[in-house]
Amino acid sequence: MAVALASVSKHFGHGADEVLALNRVTLSIQPGEFVCLVGASGSGKSTLLNLLAGLDRPSEGSLDTGGAHTTLMFQEPALFPWLTAAGNVELPLTLRGMPKAERRREVARLLELVRLTEFGGRHPHELSGGMRQRVALARALAQAAEVLLMDEPFGALDAITRDLLHDELERIWRERGLSVLFVTHNAREAVRLGDRVLVFSSRPGRVAAEFPVDLPRPRRIESPELAVLAARIYDRLRLEADLDG
Ligand code: ADP
Ligand code: MG
Repeated sequence: MAVALASVSKHFGHGADEVLALNRVTLSIQPGEFVCLVGASGSGKSTLLNLLAGLDRPSEGSLDTGGAHTTLMFQEPALFPWLTAAGNVELPLTLRGMPKAERRREVARLLELVRLTEFGGRHPHELSGGMRQRVALARALAQAAEVLLMDEPFGALDAITRDLLHDELERIWRERGLSVLFVTHNAREAVRLGDRVLVFSSRPGRVAAEFPVDLPRPRRIESPELAVLAARIYDRLRLEADLDG
């Protein structure tokens, strides 16, 4: 098991201001599995990823990453503007204590993996939104984590760029044998990518339903089979929103 959460709850604040963000969430992700999590905004998705990334601790319950390293990628690429693309990818390698010559080779390999070999010398403001997200992905991969946590990473991109990045992410996931937990509010995107799609209930977050995705890969986001399953997931999401009032 790459990741396991058992009855994890998380609340913020105290007394009248207390917010229960997660309510007894139980889920697991197998090594090499691609799991998507969909839920309304405010349902605790980011809170869950922060716990898995070790940025915060659960209020109750247990969380086990089995010694696997996790890395988190956000919707905004949050690159260092004063560093080049190559410099941004190199930074985690430097922090890991990798010697310079080896770093050079690893940066070249990672930039090639995200198809940015020609752009290593550019600064973030000289890159498109899609390219910046590729740099962020390469930087996340530079941390040599086995578990990749992605928080609506392509939400700000246009549909065509997002399509390309779905293909790239799928290829990299396979090549590297990563476990992925991918958060989105887009059911089609979830079905395009996931082995399984978890639907999160709102306030507090809880896994309300689970949909296995048995469609063969590679999938096309505009395919009718994909749309049918995505529609079922949307219905479940709407039901959760109605329950929320
Ligand atoms: P999502 O990512 O699904 O949109 P979040 O995990 O960001 O949802 O938030 C879930 C709930 O927890 C929201 O009600 C939010 O206001 C609250 N929350 C998240 N982080 C904090 C925090 N650091 N302090 C107080 N409340 C928080
Ligand atoms: Mg969020």
